[in-house]
Amino acid sequence: MLDYRQKIDALITKIEKARTAYSRHHIVKIVAVSKNASPEAIQHYYNCSQRAFGENKVQDLKTKMHSLEHLPLEWHMIGSLQENKINALLSLKPALLHSLDSLKLALKIEKRCEILGVNLNALLQVNSTYEKSKSGVMPEEALETYSQISETCKHLKLKGLMCIGAHTDDEKKIEKSFITTKKLFDQIKNASVLSMGMSCDFELAIACGANLLRIGSFLFKE
Ligand SMILES: *Cc1c(COP(=O)(O)O)cnc(C)c1O
Repeated sequence: MLDYRQKIDALITKIEKARTAYSRHHIVKIVAVSKNASPEAIQHYYNCSQRAFGENKVQDLKTKMHSLEHLPLEWHMIGSLQENKINALLSLKPALLHSLDSLKLALKIEKRCEILGVNLNALLQVNSTYEKSKSGVMPEEALETYSQISETCKHLKLKGLMCIGAHTDDEKKIEKSFITTKKLFDQIKNASVLSMGMSCDFELAIACGANLLRIGSFLFKE
């Protein structure tokens, strides 16, 4: 059995070390990525004061939200959003969509938001590693796309950027992709959320300025 308290304490200790090395004034928030976890495991982390959880599929988000609706949790959608799932996602009123990855998708979401009279907080996903397997806008287009979405999609509330670190053991490459994203983030007026860093690279992400971490296996893997 997982010792949940011990796991999250170990995580917080590591985060605190990286955070204070970066800046004592820097605030870092954890989204516990529960995509491979049971509602019971989520409840255990709730009991350890964790409130924000993330799922990468709309259907799983819906199932877990419903089975845990008695708890005041904050739910994040972190995976690619298929156009035919937009309505379903909006009806769940997630705290944040991390993975808005094109102007085309933004326009589709905007249309549905307008009809339903709702807003959606979102981050623009940047493909800062230039990996073909990853979604997101290319770094060269990110600022332009960000302002286009901000101007044309009034119901989409852009809060900042998200990226997934390079899929490699080469720390330099991972760092490069984080720095690329941070430089873009710094050029956006009013952007407040920089979602980067997962179980294998969150310390590096914090060193590069991340303030929202998406942590799955570190917390939930046996
Ligand atoms: C699964 C997932 C994570 C968490 O990954 P871990 O390596 O398990 O921490 C973070 N972000 C996204 C988009 C994911 O799909």
